[in-house]
Amino acid sequence: MSAGWGLTTAIDAVLSVILAPACAACEEPLERPTQGPVCERCWRSILPLTPPLCDRCGDPLPTWRAVSVPLERCPRCRRTPRLVDRGRAIGAYDGALRAIIHALKYEGRRSLARPLGALMRRRGADMLEGAVCAIPVPLHASRRRYRGFNQAADLARHVGIPAVAALRRVRPTPTQTGLPAAQRHRNVRDAFALTRAGAGLAGAAVVLIDDVSTTGATLEACARALKHAGVREVRALTAARAVFSRM
Ligand SMILES: [Zn+2]
Ligand SMILES: [Zn+2]
Repeated sequence: MSAGWGLTTAIDAVLSVILAPACAACEEPLERPTQGPVCERCWRSILPLTPPLCDRCGDPLPTWRAVSVPLERCPRCRRTPRLVDRGRAIGAYDGALRAIIHALKYEGRRSLARPLGALMRRRGADMLEGAVCAIPVPLHASRRRYRGFNQAADLARHVGIPAVAALRRVRPTPTQTGLPAAQRHRNVRDAFALTRAGAGLAGAAVVLIDDVSTTGATLEACARALKHAGVREVRALTAARAVFSRM
């Protein structure tokens, strides 16, 4: 039985005075702690990436180029053939969204996966449509042990289609932070393989799920393993996209 509105309001009032929990993103005291660890203002501040977006990776495009070309691609996607067919994110890896992902991933605030997954579901509805399953980008077993959970798997459970652990990391990869794109692609190129749960996806459309996409190297490596197994269409839905300034 769920507590009524009056009761949760009373509980909120008591909790906010006694415990004074802070928002996991902006660190202001939470007015309604029973509503989760992030305040309403922070959730509302997460803006979608502004169209026009690259048809392929979901990056914003310079408006002057795309006005008359509805299916335009960003310079990066035009330069290199992509295995991920379409990609989308809730928003840019910035501000409250960045802080929320940080809290989920590094502070173990796993309850944030549900509202974040719900937001991915809303803003990525066209990515999910017609797809048979959501496939979390796996962590290598050693890193998973260290962190205790895989944030991508937590998110995949809340996007509204069945989550299937179809991939595993066959070798640990050095952290990608601070590496140039070409090296990131080399690092992860053959890092993934299909699991037994991933068998039988041939001919299907699937959605890769991850917290942040930067150069897309990890998603591409996942897509390589999936397409090798005959998956027809690989889409990617991430909580955030690190958007680079373009030349
Ligand atoms: Zn906040
Ligand atoms: Zn692109």
